[in-house]
Amino acid sequence: MSTLQFDPNQLGYNADVVVIGAGISGLVATWRLIREGVDAVLLEARDRVGGRANSGTFNGESYDLGARWISPHAKQFRQLAHELGIQLTPQYIQGESMIRINRRDIRFRNRVPWLAPNVQIDYQRIIAKLNKLSHQLQLQTIKSAQAIKDYDQFSFGAWLQKQSSSNTTRNLFRLLTHIHFMAEPSEISFVYVLDQIQAYQRAEFIFSLRPAVDQDRIPGGIHRITERLAQQLRPQLNVDTPVLAMRQDEESVSVYSRGSSFRARYAIVAAPPAVAAQIYYEPALPSNRDALNQRVVMGRAINAVLCYDYPFWRENQKSGFIMSDDGPASLIHDVSPTGSTEGALACVIIGDNASHWSAQPRSERLKALVTQLTSWFGNEALSYRGMIERDWNNERWSRGTVGFMPPGSASFVHSISTPIGRIHWASSETATHWSGSIEGAIEAGERTAAEVITQLSTAGFLRKDS
Ligand SMILES: Cc1cc2nc3c(=O)[nH]c(=O)nc-3n(C[C@H](O)[C@H](O)[C@H](O)COP(=O)(O)OP(=O)(O)OC[C@H]3O[C@@H](n4cnc5c(N)ncnc54)[C@H](O)[C@@H]3O)c2cc1C
Repeated sequence: MSTLQFDPNQLGYNADVVVIGAGISGLVATWRLIREGVDAVLLEARDRVGGRANSGTFNGESYDLGARWISPHAKQFRQLAHELGIQLTPQYIQGESMIRINRRDIRFRNRVPWLAPNVQIDYQRIIAKLNKLSHQLQLQTIKSAQAIKDYDQFSFGAWLQKQSSSNTTRNLFRLLTHIHFMAEPSEISFVYVLDQIQAYQRAEFIFSLRPAVDQDRIPGGIHRITERLAQQLRPQLNVDTPVLAMRQDEESVSVYSRGSSFRARYAIVAAPPAVAAQIYYEPALPSNRDALNQRVVMGRAINAVLCYDYPFWRENQKSGFIMSDDGPASLIHDVSPTGSTEGALACVIIGDNASHWSAQPRSERLKALVTQLTSWFGNEALSYRGMIERDWNNERWSRGTVGFMPPGSASFVHSISTPIGRIHWASSETATHWSGSIEGAIEAGERTAAEVITQLSTAGFLRKDS
C-alpha cells in the first residue's frame, strides 16, 4: 500500500507536466513546453533560479560563482542569449599568461605555451593517443561492448601513469583534468574521458593549454539569462519548493514538497543524478536507475573572486590568466566587470585541493589565495578589497560541480536519459553532447520537453489552440 497519499480533495491535475529544478535545463524545458501550449509548473528548491549558473555580488557588481565561460561550441546557449537580447563579451586574455608546473613557470602570450621539450613531446604523444583511442572506441562500440568494459576497468589517472614516467607530464594532465572535469584523474573512468573526447571532437579541446581562448562571458553575470527566462515563466514558477517525494501510477505523477503537492501527467526531473537520488520515489526506482544515480559522482570546486580597485595586472601587461599545479587555485583568470573601473580575479580551487581548503576557515583560504596571487602579480595583489566565494560541495541542491563517471560504471551510463514510466530526466549530466556544460543543460531541457510533448500529443492531451 502507498505511503504517499495524495490530497483526496484534489482530484484534477495541477498541470500536464511538472518540472523539478529551475536551473538552465529545467527553465529551458518549461519555456519550450509553454511555447508549445503545454500546461506546465516549475518547482525549485532554492529561493532563486539558475542552479549552478549563479552569481554573487560585491560592491554592487555581480560576479559568476558557477558557470562562467561560454565556449565556442555552445551554439544553443548563444542562440538563447541572442533570443533574450543578452550580449556576450570575450574573456580578457591580453598580455602575459602563465602555467606553473613542478614549480617551473612557463610564460606565454598569444601563442600556445612552449613546454620543456620532453614534456611537449609527451603532451603531444598522449593527446594523439587519446584521439586515436577515442576514435577506435567509437568504431568498436558499434561492433562490441568489450572495448568499453576493458577501458572502464581503470581510471584516467591509472592510464596516464602507464603512459608517462615524467612527473611533470602527469602533473600537467592532472591540472588540465582539474580545469575540464573539476575532479582528479584517479577518480574518473578512462572510458568516460574517451567518451568526452568524442563529444568535444578532439582531445586538445578538453586538455587545452589555452582554455580561456575563444571563451565568452555574460557581462553582469550569467544569472541575467536565467532570471530573464524566469521572468517569462512567473506564473509557472514556484521557488522555495523542494520536491521531497514523488509517486507515479498509470495515470499521473504526484510530487510532494513541504506542505504542498502537485499532480501532473508527466514529470521532468531537471536536477543532477546525485541530487535526484535524494528524492523518495514510489514505487522505488528500478535498481539500475538507482545504481546509476549513485554512480554519477560530482566534481569538487570552490569558486572564489578577489575584488580590487582596478585591474592592476593589466597595467603590468599581464592577462590575469594562470594555471597552476601547486594551488590552492588550479585556475585563475580576469573577471573584471565590463564597463567598470574595478578589477577582479577568479580563483578556482579544484579536486583534492577543494576538499582540503573547504575544511579550513575562510580567513586561511583567503590568505593562501592572496599568497598565490602575490607570487605572480607582486605585492599589489595584497590590496584586495574583498572576496566572495562559493563552495559547491556544500550546496545541498547541487552536491558538487558537474557529474562524471568513475571506473566500472560505463554499463550504466547509456540509460542516463531513459524515462522511468512518467518521469523524464533532464540536467546537464544527461546530455549526449557537452554533458556537464551549460550547452548540455539546454540540450537536455529541449530533449525532455520534446519527449513529453510527444507523449501528450499521442495521448491526445495537447491543446494546440491554447
Ligand atoms: C564552479 C562551476 C563552474 C562551471 N563552469 C562552467 C563554465 O564555465 N561553462 C559551462 O558551460 N558550464 C560550467 N559549469 C557547469 C554548468 O554550470 C552546469 O552544467 C549547468 O549550469 C547545469 O544546469 P542544470 O539545469 O542541468 O542543473 P542545475 O544548475 O544544477 O539545476 C538544477 C536545479 O534543480 C534544483 N533542485 C535540485 N533538487 C531539487 C528538488 N528536490 N526539488 C526542487 N528543485 C531541486 C536546484 O536547486 C537547481 O536549481 C560550471 C559549474 C560549476 C559548479
